[in-house]
Amino acid sequence: METKTIAIAIDGPAGAGKSTIAKRLAAEMQYIYVDTGALYRTVGYAALTAGIDPTDADAVVAMLPSIRVGLAYEDGTQKVLLNDEDVSGCIRTPEASMAASAVSAYPPVRQFLFHLQQDIAATHNVIMDGRDIGTVVLPHAQVKIFLSASAEDRARRRYDEMTAKGMEVRFEDVLADMIQRDYNDSHRAAAPLKPAEDAVMVDTTGNTLEQSVELMKNLIKERLG
Ligand code: C5P
Repeated sequence: METKTIAIAIDGPAGAGKSTIAKRLAAEMQYIYVDTGALYRTVGYAALTAGIDPTDADAVVAMLPSIRVGLAYEDGTQKVLLNDEDVSGCIRTPEASMAASAVSAYPPVRQFLFHLQQDIAATHNVIMDGRDIGTVVLPHAQVKIFLSASAEDRARRRYDEMTAKGMEVRFEDVLADMIQRDYNDSHRAAAPLKPAEDAVMVDTTGNTLEQSVELMKNLIKERLG
């Protein structure tokens, strides 16, 4: 018997609060949270560790058959695996962010990660966040949300997260990286960052996390009936 799974797609630019909000909602709803950015980061990280320039499309694509990217869940927390090794802690650096942004523009990289994302949604109720979830990966998602906020607000959140982890970064650099990544993500030919036609637009500028979670919870409840 076919069991129908439920998918909630959350797309939007970096730092809009997608992952923090989605994690909270997934825990409350007992859905699986899938952070698809981690997959692109892992491919970018794989290139960096192999000494491959992430902007060298041919070299990155040639590397793909030699790597395995996978997801595992431990106590509800997503771990991303590169050749069976947990690299979740290595992919959050500014270098990995920019590498992810570069490699995500190559159609073979997107294709490489496509089935992994679809398979998990076919077998579990998911809240999946990314850039093209509502448009490409899960076009039939029951709920689609496009989450946004001003660039300054988003950079401030990312900066606070990084410094809380003890990383030494400058706010201006975080903001510049974010603006560059937004530009790359929105202007690439393959699956650019854009709201699905049937997505609900949510702007979190100035909101506290609690306010955004509450807003999204009500929205999802309304949509799922
Ligand atoms: O979400 P996060 O900032 O971790 O994503 C890292 C990068 O991966 C993004 O800047 C984007 O270029 C890419 N990405 C993507 N499609 C997704 C998720 C992330 O192209 N679904």
